[in-house]
Amino acid sequence: METAFIQLAYIAAAILFIFGLKMLGSAKTARRGNRLSALGMLIAVVATLFTQGLAFPYIVAGVLIGGAIGAAAAVRVPMTSMPEFVALFNGFGGMASLLVGWAEYQRNLSVWAADAAPFVTVLAIFLAVFIGGVTFSGSLVAYGKLSEKISGKPLLFKGQHIVNGGIIAGALVCAVLFMANADNPAIAMGYAPFLVAGALALTLGVLATAPIGGADMPVVISLLNSYSGLAACAAGFVIGNTVLIVSGALVGASGMILTTIMCKAMNRSLANVLFSGFGAAGGAAGGAQQGEAKPITVEDAYFVLEAANKVVFVPGYGMAVAQAQHAVRELGELLEANGAEVSYCVHPVAGRMPGHMNVLLAEANVPYEQLVEIEDINPIMGTVDVAIVIGANDVVNPGAREDPTSSIYGMPIVNVDHARTCFVLKRSMASGFAGVENPLFFKENNRMLFGDAKASVQGLVAEFKDA
Ligand code: NDP
Repeated sequence: METAFIQLAYIAAAILFIFGLKMLGSAKTARRGNRLSALGMLIAVVATLFTQGLAFPYIVAGVLIGGAIGAAAAVRVPMTSMPEFVALFNGFGGMASLLVGWAEYQRNLSVWAADAAPFVTVLAIFLAVFIGGVTFSGSLVAYGKLSEKISGKPLLFKGQHIVNGGIIAGALVCAVLFMANADNPAIAMGYAPFLVAGALALTLGVLATAPIGGADMPVVISLLNSYSGLAACAAGFVIGNTVLIVSGALVGASGMILTTIMCKAMNRSLANVLFSGFGAAGGAAGGAQQGEAKPITVEDAYFVLEAANKVVFVPGYGMAVAQAQHAVRELGELLEANGAEVSYCVHPVAGRMPGHMNVLLAEANVPYEQLVEIEDINPIMGTVDVAIVIGANDVVNPGAREDPTSSIYGMPIVNVDHARTCFVLKRSMASGFAGVENPLFFKENNRMLFGDAKASVQGLVAEFKDA
């Protein structure tokens, strides 16, 4: 009876997850989708608490410690650090799956010694530990790169592919040995290859993530996200929990779809991202001056905008740093009131996490209808009077289109340099995350509006209001 109730609750939760996920596909229904999925999670958690034989003191201790850490992080971590924290949380998901797999193996070993180990459970334990380990250490590296605690540049060493290949081969050998001897109580037979595989997984996570850097990071982040789902799915098989299998599979599959979208946004294949050390070839990497960048004042920028009929905003990571989204929306409204046609173009890899800019624009209530895709705006960029780049850099870098030596060559960009006039709002001439110089700054039709993006946009808003 109890089991039937739990299973029914799990089915209800799984249905809510699926519909919730579907609703996340559109900005209009995303909030409702999020609530629906959260309700599904609540049902799943409550139902699980009815499972027989749970050690409640441990659960309460876990909730209290985890809750305290989460609450402290929520209060102390600034919004601008969210991308790296999302990477960290993702890694903890991988670690949780690793620990579940390990604990279940430890718990079952004596049982299996008397009664042969079930193949599927043993395989699932191995996968939960291996994929979970790769996800954990890989996500720590991603955290380091996003928070700039370690260099965002690809870290390469000679023979990297051979070392990684050796690790994968070693892991396969460990998998075979472990599967064949999982129920053997002699430590050297089953446990040793199991532990070695765990250590190899942690090493592989670091070595596979370190060489990917610069503009390729979005692909790694979505891939690690997918891995965390696959690890959770395997953990679900380990403990025979249907809802964990379903939710893990959903995260795994949606992460894969996101990875494909990110690869498309970078115009490269997954294999190319994972194995080429993309971004390592310096190309026009910062430093070499390519002419003179022309600064503009807020007052002069206002006069140009005041006469504009068509304006496109292109937000980037700097908008998130400056938290300029509300001011940007206000400027957009003033431009519209002044008779201009206003739109916003979000590059898929702008910011530091998938959907970063979309979230900020939605938070500022920018109408969804005003968002335009790159494919739609680029062909008509010549008809745009002013393209306003708010703290974006790599995603508007014409070097990606024109300079075969550039490390981001081939990545589709928003062609703001094709607009009649382009304003770039940033604080200095510094390069973006990929570390490459931006020839846009030196183009004839470009003007640099130096300063914090929020202050600059607020200055423009003030000019419109005072007029
Ligand atoms: P970039 O990192 O290329 O550039 C951001 C720019 O913002 C900087 O050049 C900086 O210049 C400026 N900036 C920073 N703070 C402020 C501020 N307060 N006011 C005004 N400007 C500011 O950002 P993009 O969005 O163009 O590109 C994203 C990059 O990050 C890509 O290379 C992408 O591959 C990578 N990435 C994306 C991820 C994702 O999932 N979306 C994940 C990981 C990496 P200055 O210092 O002069 O002000």
